[in-house]
Amino acid sequence: NKQVIFKDYVTGFPKESDMYVTTSTIKLKVPEDSNAVLLKNLYLSCDPVMRILMQPVVPSDFSSYTPGSPLNGYGVAKVLDSGHPDFKVGDLVWGANTRWEEYSLTTATESLKKIKHTDVPLSYYTGLLGMPGVTAYAGFHEVCSPKKGEYVFVSAASGAVGQLVGQFAKLFGCYVVGSAGSKEKVDLLKNKFGFDDAFNYNEEHDLDAALKRYFPEGIDIYFENVGGKMLDAVLLNMRTHGRVAVCGMISQYNLDQTEGVKNLMHLIFKRIHVTGFSSLDYHHLYPKLLDTVLPYIKEGKIVYVEDIAEGLESGPAALVGLFKGRNKGKQVVVVARE
Ligand code: NDP
Repeated sequence: NKQVIFKDYVTGFPKESDMYVTTSTIKLKVPEDSNAVLLKNLYLSCDPVMRILMQPVVPSDFSSYTPGSPLNGYGVAKVLDSGHPDFKVGDLVWGANTRWEEYSLTTATESLKKIKHTDVPLSYYTGLLGMPGVTAYAGFHEVCSPKKGEYVFVSAASGAVGQLVGQFAKLFGCYVVGSAGSKEKVDLLKNKFGFDDAFNYNEEHDLDAALKRYFPEGIDIYFENVGGKMLDAVLLNMRTHGRVAVCGMISQYNLDQTEGVKNLMHLIFKRIHVTGFSSLDYHHLYPKLLDTVLPYIKEGKIVYVEDIAEGLESGPAALVGLFKGRNKGKQVVVVARE
């Protein structure tokens, strides 16, 4: 059973060498009288939050990785054997505690969701039809309280969450601009995901000036994925009664201390609502996400770009790549296709 093991707690940027691949043995059978499930892991999700779990102290919703144990995260798997009445051989599932290994014997069945719709790529259950989908759907529709015609700005806009927020906002009737870290990603935003406009933040030495260029009348909704300097520049450009949905702050995850935000007083000047939110609180919206998004996928009204890394061995590089912007779209690791 090939596994990706977490070596030790990380400071600064995560490196491939913070993980290693090893092989152990596992019996491909659920023990007698056990209600465990034996899973063959198919697709693993690389998520920025995994960097936070590489620290010894983490927020209460999470637990740190254990040095010497496999990484875990969201993933898609197939049931190979089952002692649990709710799961049978051949079922496809997705869930939050997928270990980075080929096969897993688990009793944590409460976090497994059965996959009912298999006429879409299974890997989508790590993204569009999984946790990032819930995040984008709830984050935009619930947290941002959007109105038709509003001006929306999305950072890390070509990633797993951002590309969906932009498309949800367009379908809703907003004007949407995204930022990303390369020309190629900016082209994706404009030509594939249908953003009204987009810019490469690495080419803008003055983010405030860039935002004024793209939003001469100001921003109503900021979907925050990066934090730091971008957030500071955005605050200057928010409109009165604007809303900031704080989804993540990836630019801060590898720093010892978060960067100072100078423009916080604009929260008051402009009566801005800033709401931090977690997808963990919105799983009740999952059926709504499926009802909304499955027809859109079939009608071609929503597209989803994935960056597929082949093989468990490619996992560490794929995960580390999130923090260098190497992924183009949702980063997925394929362990097996069936
Ligand atoms: P992405 O697929 O967007 O991958 C991460 C991207 O972040 C990179 O490709 C890179 O794109 C960008 N990035 C990396 N470092 C920096 C930096 N220093 N400054 C600016 N951009 C950077 O990831 P996700 O869509 O999965 O996640 C996006 C955000 O949403 C993250 O902050 C994540 O933690 C958060 N999140 C929060 C959830 C919640 O429940 N609140 C749930 C899921 C995600 P580029 O080349 O454009 O820089």
